[in-house]
Amino acid sequence: METIVHEGWALESRVPSLVENLEKLSTRAKKLGCPAITWEVTDETKRSEERDDITGLVVRVSYYRLVKVSGAAPVYNGWHLVAVIDHIKEDGTNLFRVVPGEELPEHYRKTPQHCDHCGHSRYRKTTIVVRHEDGTYKQLGSACVKDFLGHPKPESFLWQAEWPSIFEGMFNEGGGHREWEGYDLKTFMTVTAAVVREFGWLSRGKANESGGYATADIVNGNVADLIGGRKMDVTLLPEDEVMADKTINFINSMPQDNLSDYEYNLKASFELNMVIPRYEGIVASGLNYFMRKNDLLEKKEWKNSVHVGTVGDKITVKVKVLNIYWFETQFGSCGVHKFLDNNGNIFIWKTGHHGLVPDDEIVLKGTIKEHNEYKEKKQTVLTRCKVLEKE
Ligand SMILES: [Zn+2]
Repeated sequence: METIVHEGWALESRVPSLVENLEKLSTRAKKLGCPAITWEVTDETKRSEERDDITGLVVRVSYYRLVKVSGAAPVYNGWHLVAVIDHIKEDGTNLFRVVPGEELPEHYRKTPQHCDHCGHSRYRKTTIVVRHEDGTYKQLGSACVKDFLGHPKPESFLWQAEWPSIFEGMFNEGGGHREWEGYDLKTFMTVTAAVVREFGWLSRGKANESGGYATADIVNGNVADLIGGRKMDVTLLPEDEVMADKTINFINSMPQDNLSDYEYNLKASFELNMVIPRYEGIVASGLNYFMRKNDLLEKKEWKNSVHVGTVGDKITVKVKVLNIYWFETQFGSCGVHKFLDNNGNIFIWKTGHHGLVPDDEIVLKGTIKEHNEYKEKKQTVLTRCKVLEKE
C-alpha cells in the first residue's frame, strides 16, 4: 500500500466543511472496500492581508489552517490507479484527474479513447490509467478495470481521483482567485470611529424603527468604498485610529467570567481578529460599548441641559470637553467644541485649534452669542472665548 499525503492551507472558515467532505469521502471509501482516509487539522495557521494602495491600510484579511490528508491507494496484483481521463472531444481533447502523489505520463494528456487490455477503441466517456509496481502504465476502459484493480465497480476508485477537485475548492493554493474572509478588524474599527464621530451611533434596531442608516451599514459602505478605491463619506483622523486601538484592547482584555450574552458574543466576535459580514453589527457596536463603559457617550442627564445666562453676557464656566467636530472653511479648520458643565448644561464654541481633546477639564471665559437647540437639547453658544485653566 502506498500512502498518499496531501497537505494544504484551507481557509479557516472552510475547515468545517472540508472535514465534513472528508468524512463523507471516508464513509464512501469504506463502503466500497477502499482503504480508509485520515486527516489532521493542524495548529498551524497563517494570515494574509490585502492593503489599500493609497492609504496603506490593511483592508481585507484571511486566515488559513494547514490540513493534512492521507490515504492509501488500493493495489491489486501490483496494479494501482493513477488517473481518470475524461474524453471530452473525439480529437483527443481530454480532461484528467491525477491521484495526488502520482504522475501521469504526458502523452496521456492527448490520448484517444482506447483500452490497452482488450484493444477496443469504441467511444468511451472515461478511461482509467493504472500503473504496475514495475513501472508499466496501462490505459483501460471501464469494463476491463476490474481485471487490474480487482473491483467490479471501477467508479469505486474515482474517489481517489476526486481528491484534487475536492481540495481545489477547499484549499486556496495554486493560483485561482483569492478569497477574502473578512475586513481587517483595526481598519473596520477605525472607520467605525470616524462614522460615529461624524454621524453619531445608531444601532440596527433603532435604525429599523426610525428609518435611518445603522452605523454598521454606513461603516460597511465606507469600507467597501475604501477597497474599491472610491472616496469615503468620512475622513479618517489619527484620533479614530486611537479610538479603534483603545476599543480593541478594551474588549480583548475583558475577563471571560460574568459576561452578559451580548458581552460574550462581542468578545468572541473580536477574537476572530477580522470582521465577517454576519458579525458587522456586533463588532461595530463594540465602539459604542467601549464609549459607554468609559463615560464617553452622551449621557441621559444632558437631555435636561438648559440655556445659561443671557445673550450678550460675559460668563466664566468650568466645563469638560465632550467632543470636537472638525470641518473645513475658507479660513481653515473649524472645530465645533462641545462642553458640559457640572449641571449637565451644554456649551458650544466654534473655533480653531486650541489643543483641546475630549475629556479635558477647563475653565472657559466667553460671551454668550446665542441660545439654540440641537437634537432637542438646549445649548448655550459662546464666542470670543479664552481658556483660563486647563487641568
Ligand atoms: Zn478493455
